[in-house]
This record gives sequence, C-alpha cells and structure tokens, in this order.
Amino acid sequence: MRAPTRRDSFPRPGLERSLMARRKKIYEGKAKILYEGPEPGTIVQYFKDDATAFNAEKKDVIDGKGVLNNRLSEFFMTGLNQIGVPTHFIRRLNMREQLVRNCEIVPLEVIVRNYAAGTMSKRLGIAEGTQLPRPIVEYCYKDDALGDPLVTEEHIAAFGWASQQDMDDILSLALRVNDFMSGMMLAVGIRLVDFKIEIGRVFDGDFQRLIVADEISPDSCRLWDIETGQKLDKDVFRRDLGSLTDAYSEVARRLGVLPKSNVAKPTLIN
Ligand code: 5GP
Repeated sequence: MRAPTRRDSFPRPGLERSLMARRKKIYEGKAKILYEGPEPGTIVQYFKDDATAFNAEKKDVIDGKGVLNNRLSEFFMTGLNQIGVPTHFIRRLNMREQLVRNCEIVPLEVIVRNYAAGTMSKRLGIAEGTQLPRPIVEYCYKDDALGDPLVTEEHIAAFGWASQQDMDDILSLALRVNDFMSGMMLAVGIRLVDFKIEIGRVFDGDFQRLIVADEISPDSCRLWDIETGQKLDKDVFRRDLGSLTDAYSEVARRLGVLPKSNVAKPTLIN
C-alpha cells in the first residue's frame, strides 16, 4: 500500500505555494499553520507533514500525514457538530486546509484516558493497556518550554486560566467527545486508549461559549487494534514502530474516510 505523496495531496504544488504566499500567517505550530480566514472570525488551518515528539526533540517529515489528519479531523469534528458537541470546524477547503472559527484557546491540554498508557503509566506505575475504573480527565498547562506540565483544577482557578463554570463545561465536553470517539472507534475494531483535545472560547456579544478546537486525529489520540493491540497512532513515530502513514491510512480506511481500494489517491473523493 503506497502512502499519499505530496503530488497526490495537491494537484498543483505551484498553485498551493502561491495561494499560501498571499495569505497572512497568524501562527505556525509544530503540525499546523494558521492563516487569516476569508471572513471575519474565521481562520484557515493548514496541516503540515511535520511530525514531532518528546517536546520536538524527535522530528521528521512524514509524506501525506497532513492530508490524512485534515481528513480525519474533518470526519471527527463533523460528527461531533452533528451530535450537538460544538467545535471550531466549519468546512474542509482542500486536501490540507480547513476553515475553522477563530477562537481564544484556553491554555490547557485536556486529556481523557480510558486505559493506562504513556505518561500515566510512567507516573503511576500502571501497566500500559490496563483498563481504568472510569474515564480519567487530566489537565496540562499548554507551555512547550515547560513541557506541558500536569496541573490541577486548583492551579487553573488560582491562575485564572478558566473559571469554575468553564471547568464544568470543559469536563462535560471532554466526556462527550470521549463517548463519541470511543463508539466510532469500537465500531471499526479500534480501542480509544486516550486522547487530547484543546478548547476554544468564542464570543457572541457579551456571551461566551466553549467549543472543541485544534484537531482530533491519530496525532492526538492513542488508537490500538482491538484484536492485535497494534498501535495506529503517533506512538508508531514516537517509538519507531513502522510507517506512520500506513497506520493513519488504516484508521482512515476503516472509518471509510478514504476509499478502501486506493488510499494513495485521496483526491478522488470529496
Ligand atoms: P501522554 O500524556 O500519555 O503523553 O498523552 C496522552 C494523550 O494525549 C495521547 O493520546 C497523546 O497523543 C495526547 N497528547 C499529549 N500531549 C500532546 C501534545 O502536546 N500534542 C498532541 N498532538 N497530543 C498530545
């Protein structure tokens, strides 16, 4: 199975470059670039092929990753919008870009865990794969220089990163995303071990609402095949377990996001 290449992902690389050059870049992160959107209150989110791990100590460019994450994030965010979980997603623009609502990002990484893995296993000495008695929600302060440290609701309230009402809403959004994602994944034989989301504030006049922002993709989830335990997420890159695009393509193929017969040509479907 051939992974999507840069040529597959955008039919005219010259056109892509000229479109990007005309836009105003707002922010460039490790995996995405944000540009000013065409209308007030909108942003264009561009998915890069760059992969980083361990706070950017490990880096690579993985051909086709951005295309797959754009598609998968579109798929999850659209589903969430449809069941009444508000997200920043408006529509996909092309193979690498989506139009999203501009929002003020709450400076927290919200992590939901169903099974022990990663830093929770390390911190608490629980074997990876142990089912947790219930979903556990953790908060990390978003700061690369500090390595996104784990914080408690006490820190969040004391430092004013979110109010008590915000925290109630964030918890409820996180658990709804968990139920939705767990169900979607279970239906295609994948276990949702854990995931990270980010939350944005949008303002309607004096009124503020919290919405799911950033992205939901195998970059920000742990996804294990239920039968074999095979990892289908960014741990493939973090732990050198094989081809990351093969893993992400498998997730996309099972969810019907890419055509079964030809994941190498994602331009074939809209
Ligand atoms: P852990 O704390 O075990 O490293 O990560 C828990 C979950 O959150 C994993 O699914 C992991 O992919 C996700 N996660 C944690 N931090 C980040 C981050 O900075 N970026 C992304 N994309 N995902 C993260």
